[in-house]
Amino acid sequence: MPEGPEIRIAADRIARVLEGERVEEVLMPAALRRFEARLEGATVTQVDTHGKAMLTRFDNGLTLYSHNQLYGRWYVRARGDLPRTGRILRVALHTASSSALLYSATDIDVLDAKQLEAHAFLSRLGPDILDSELTGQALAARLNEPQFRGRSLASLYLDQSFVAGIGNYLRSEILHFARLDHRRRPRDMSQTERQRLARQTLAVARRSYRTRGITNPPGRVRTRKAAGDTRRGSYRFAVFAREGQPCDLCGANIRRADAGSRRVYFCPECQA
Ligand SMILES: [Zn+2]
Repeated sequence: MPEGPEIRIAADRIARVLEGERVEEVLMPAALRRFEARLEGATVTQVDTHGKAMLTRFDNGLTLYSHNQLYGRWYVRARGDLPRTGRILRVALHTASSSALLYSATDIDVLDAKQLEAHAFLSRLGPDILDSELTGQALAARLNEPQFRGRSLASLYLDQSFVAGIGNYLRSEILHFARLDHRRRPRDMSQTERQRLARQTLAVARRSYRTRGITNPPGRVRTRKAAGDTRRGSYRFAVFAREGQPCDLCGANIRRADAGSRRVYFCPECQA
């Protein structure tokens, strides 16, 4: 499933063609067809994200909510240039010159301000990991709150009510860069460790957003590429999907475990 950085990158692409533009023609799934006429002629004011949800906001007060889950995919095209795909087109927003097209997703809704406020999924979400106003200090304090401090990091770091937008690869990568074992709990960590984890949570997610999915810092990527590593062979990640390969920092073999029925990767030395 795409994680916060990938969803934000998709939202940026859509924002470039929709924000400030009038939508001339709209296609909605059958259950939302009544909104087509209400959205046609409206102008998109903003395309933003909260965790893995995308919100396309219109100047008439309506917001298109979409969550890609595993299968959904957005395309941005010149108007009328539909991609060749076997997927089912679910939403189309056409401006005079461009089209934003959502394929395959099923979690789609059109909401007014009040419904947006009360939305069951959105209202449960924690702060967005890419929110530029979220600070390391606030996140360190959140780690120490009663509802979170007794839980394992493995569980917290997939819980969208703790922080929205973290998924499986970010979980492994953040915990590696923070040098923490996934079984540890915030309440058993020192304040320094909680602060280090909070800083790395923001740093790794923001780096992944800037670099379109690479969590390794630029120096490590250069070293790995020089050694012949490809993106698929994973210069992208420090530990994720690198079971049995050497840790860049200490040379120990990366290990894999299952945590919350999802795989987690770690360095047994650096994260002891
Ligand atoms: Zn290591």
